[in-house]
Amino acid sequence: MLNRRSMIAAAFALGIITPAAAQDSGTTKLPVVASFSILGDFAKEIGGDRVSVTTLVGPNGDAHVFQPAPADAKKLAAAKVVFVNGLGFEGWIDRLVKASGTKAKLVVATKGVAPRQMEEEEGHDAHAHDDKHAHDHGETDPHAWQSVANAKLYVANVRDGLIAADPAGKAVYEANAATYTAKLDTLDARVKEAVAAIPEANRRIITSHDAFGYFGAAYGIEFIAPQGVSTEAEASAKDVARIIRQIKAEKIPAVFVENISDPRLVDRIAKETGAKIGGTLYSDALSDDKGPASTYIDMIQNNIRELSSALSS
Ligand SMILES: [Zn+2]
Repeated sequence: MLNRRSMIAAAFALGIITPAAAQDSGTTKLPVVASFSILGDFAKEIGGDRVSVTTLVGPNGDAHVFQPAPADAKKLAAAKVVFVNGLGFEGWIDRLVKASGTKAKLVVATKGVAPRQMEEEEGHDAHAHDDKHAHDHGETDPHAWQSVANAKLYVANVRDGLIAADPAGKAVYEANAATYTAKLDTLDARVKEAVAAIPEANRRIITSHDAFGYFGAAYGIEFIAPQGVSTEAEASAKDVARIIRQIKAEKIPAVFVENISDPRLVDRIAKETGAKIGGTLYSDALSDDKGPASTYIDMIQNNIRELSSALSS
């Protein structure tokens, strides 16, 4: 029986693999896993040609309720670096890392972000929820990427994670991160301009889950959602009724569908209140390549375009 070494020797002898191809790191891309599509886009932007990026939760996927498959453990096992959002976004990641036996370095992309803590709302009846959902109160909002200033922190963390795993690529990763960060600065200015053009009284909208808190805080739009910062627990009838009353009382102009959520809840709220449906916002995932939000920059541009057109008049 052949042992591994003699099999490799035989492969060289047959010309199946050459020593150059096996050893030249320039032809072997650094295997990188990102937990979800937005983080995958950052890894591709900063890693460029040196990395091969695989994402676990793909386009239009919902990371809150993601159920990893055995294939996902294999992806982790093959990776040298794994990028995660953190702040409780990927509740399934620790178990998956353990199951995979991966030796990859785990990099938390939100390192340095000031987290939004969700407090229990006034008049919100915690006792209406069962014990299973009691932990939803006082939890951390994971959707930090919705502020472009935070996205720059993600980029710095991705850059440093790639340099640690592949020091030979340092100059490339630094240059890519600098170029991309400059694009994010331009994007941030564009969002601010667009919001400034929306009449102040109109800067309030409804979405299905509470994914735009960082966006709202950074740019001055109020987002109201019947569902919490996770999609795991469904909106209660009481929360939906409260929001319907609020839309009517405050004449909130538009409700928005999210790419990752079932549109029926928002449709129902629109019907019962007469608020118009403003379009689709990309909250927790990019679109596929054919969609309007296949990169982070396109996603933010899509969202601000939808908000502007629904709220400007
Ligand atoms: Zn979310």
